[in-house]
Amino acid sequence: MLQINADRLWQSLMDLAKIGATEKGGVRRLTLTDVDRQGRDLFVHWCKEAGLHIEVDAIGNIFARRAGTEAGALPVAMGSHLDSQPSGGKFDGAYGVMAGLEVVRTLNDAGIRTRAPIEVAAWTNEEGSRFVPTMMGSGVYAGVHRLDEILNQKDIDGTSVREALQQIGYAGKALPHKLGAYFEAHIEQGPVLEQTKTTIGVVLGALGQRWFDVVVAGQDSHAGPTPMDTRRDALLAASRLVLEVNRIATTFPDYARGTVGFMLVKPNSRNVVPGEVRMTVDLRNAKDATLTAMADKLKDLAISIAKETRTEIALKEVVYFPPSEFAPELVDGVRAGSKALGYSHRDIVSGAAHDAVYMARIAPTAMVFVPCEGGISHNEIENAKAEDLAAGCNVLLNVMLEKARIAK
Ligand SMILES: [Zn+2]
Repeated sequence: MLQINADRLWQSLMDLAKIGATEKGGVRRLTLTDVDRQGRDLFVHWCKEAGLHIEVDAIGNIFARRAGTEAGALPVAMGSHLDSQPSGGKFDGAYGVMAGLEVVRTLNDAGIRTRAPIEVAAWTNEEGSRFVPTMMGSGVYAGVHRLDEILNQKDIDGTSVREALQQIGYAGKALPHKLGAYFEAHIEQGPVLEQTKTTIGVVLGALGQRWFDVVVAGQDSHAGPTPMDTRRDALLAASRLVLEVNRIATTFPDYARGTVGFMLVKPNSRNVVPGEVRMTVDLRNAKDATLTAMADKLKDLAISIAKETRTEIALKEVVYFPPSEFAPELVDGVRAGSKALGYSHRDIVSGAAHDAVYMARIAPTAMVFVPCEGGISHNEIENAKAEDLAAGCNVLLNVMLEKARIAK
């Protein structure tokens, strides 16, 4: 089987990491800054060296295309992002873009042409630290956000996305085009692969989210004179709800998660029965139907807990982000490719969002995860092993070739 050049992939990552390098070995490459421009310029330079045709769209997404042999075949794309958190790592995002470039370089070396065109994409502002929202470029591309609204978004100094794109010379004109498939290689940003000594994470999709604001209303009363059986203790009700959120997350299938991360107790005084609690509930699941069932269960339990504790519990849903289930045939391809290459692999879901989550709405999509040290990311000390990065890139090469098909 064709293999990528592991040293070249590593060297490209290290060369890119010099742009915006921080003292602790990370990078600071905030989107649409001059440092981001330097990173983009280097990527574009390498792509041109590899014979790729460059296009930039109105939100600054870069597409580097290697022509196919079959007229009309939809491009097969791979990519990620070149921007970083203010104190970010060398691999988050950069890996997916450099892995795409390495796949192309490997095909060039081997003289392999494909029937479908191959594209390497670098999406604008995945991180969302300088401009909100996150996954801005892929979100506009996928039609989740309106271009004009996004171009008017401003950073903390009042600079708009439109101005920043013009300043760095990446306000392009290319229009969105249809893709036959999209693949994204990424470090896991969590501990599962490392802890289970697994090289490749076969990503089934990303968790959907339902967030609730909860207000529990009881009655303030004196901690001494008020008998237990007449109390309307809002914190008691809230505490029972916390336990039930945990029970929901540990009993429902499909990678269920449940978190109460915020609680405000009133009046928060040691000798007063609490009369009001404001809290949040964050439910996540890989399957939309299961996520809905979790939310329904939460609502039912809130009603019964309110009744039993003589309180009122109001649940307001404030965020709904549907799960993204990646294309089964492409996910199977990642699994089969890992197996054929002899890498240990396991199915995994992404707890974090990626550009692939938006791309999955408009094209068949899959992701390849590789381990990162201690599961740490969004941190300057983020680290990954060259051999794992190479393995993920080999899987990427394999699935890309299967989809773009070698021309005879
Ligand atoms: Zn990322």
